[in-house]
Amino acid sequence: MSQNESLDYFEVFPWNKNFEIGHKEVDKQHKILVKLLNNLANTLINEKEIEIEDAFNELAKYADYHFDAEEKIWEEFLEDSSLLKAHKKSHTKFLPTVIELKEKNKDKSLVDIIEEVIKFLIRWLSFHIIDEDKRLAIVIKEIQKGKSKEEAKRVSDRLMNGSIRTLIEAILSMYDGVSARTLSLMRERNARIKAEKALKDVNKQLQELSITDQLTSLYNRRHFENIFDLEMKRARREKKYFSVILFDIDYFKLLNDMYGHAYGDEALKKIGKCLKETCKRPSDFAFRVGGEEFAIVFNCYKSDACYNLALKLQENINNLKIESKGSKISDYMTVSIGLVSIIPTDEDDLESVMKTVDKRLYIAKESGRNQIIHYN
Ligand code: GH3
Ligand code: MG
Ligand code: MG
Repeated sequence: MSQNESLDYFEVFPWNKNFEIGHKEVDKQHKILVKLLNNLANTLINEKEIEIEDAFNELAKYADYHFDAEEKIWEEFLEDSSLLKAHKKSHTKFLPTVIELKEKNKDKSLVDIIEEVIKFLIRWLSFHIIDEDKRLAIVIKEIQKGKSKEEAKRVSDRLMNGSIRTLIEAILSMYDGVSARTLSLMRERNARIKAEKALKDVNKQLQELSITDQLTSLYNRRHFENIFDLEMKRARREKKYFSVILFDIDYFKLLNDMYGHAYGDEALKKIGKCLKETCKRPSDFAFRVGGEEFAIVFNCYKSDACYNLALKLQENINNLKIESKGSKISDYMTVSIGLVSIIPTDEDDLESVMKTVDKRLYIAKESGRNQIIHYN
């Protein structure tokens, strides 16, 4: 695909028939100039300095060649006319003006400089082609028809009275292209914003899924380890109590055996809901860390807060009154709880704290279940 056919190619200066002055060679060269100008504008999209410089140099070089060629064509007919002199003058002023523009904006970025240059070039080329060249082309045509230079100039002046209209038409048709382009860019931008938001939402959902236990919708084991680490570090920094409550359902296997696995699942869901309701503060984190094993992690200022929360949890679970006639200690589901609450030192880490809390949960089981152990 050539550059012009690419979807991203944008014509800042769309050629239209008003720019044709009726001289084949000159029209051809003007078209090339306009194309090089469009190419230059398109390099601004990628902001690659080498590309921008190359495109600018190509345009400047071609402009030089074109002016030379054009002057030779006009000279054939109009050797020393004042019209031609003015035209030559505008040619010789062209490059210095562009260079001056570049110099003046030297402290700006290359993209900004070239943007300025392009604005100038569009104006300059429009007038150069539509006014000056067209005027000359008419004079020459009239001379070729046998008119004198003076008569030819008069015809040209008369015909060129309509040149403002031509210019307006040309510019309006350029504007059509630009406004259509702007609208499509706005649509593209909107679509992109929507797509980005959808992607963000999906990512957030994925992220939530990856840290959530499907059955209870509590956080899962993986997230437990992350939060454990973060909260313990925070407690160490802020010299607060770092608390972990670990609990396990008593005789859950017997519950499953007696009432079925689906009943067991429902019981786990109820525990999840109860846990969420018990951990109301945003600083409390509740997890399902294993099959029928749960945990709470939180930081606090008071040494007895952890034990009090464990008591509340036990009470709330008892209040659920989940029937469990297979249990050897109660007709309703009970839990055994181990807990640790410490102001962490540099020696404490996930492994050491979990070893302590596991041991306390084990003691709770060994001492008859349905109880809280917070020392050993
Ligand atoms: P203990 O009081 O010593 O904890 O006895 P227990 O029966 O609760 O402990 P055990 O480790 O012997 O059995 C745990 C049971 O939990 C076995 C397993 O089938 C059940 N379990 C684990 N995950 C799930 C689950 O997602 N759904 C259901 N329904 N049961 C589960
Ligand atoms: Mg159990
Ligand atoms: Mg267990």
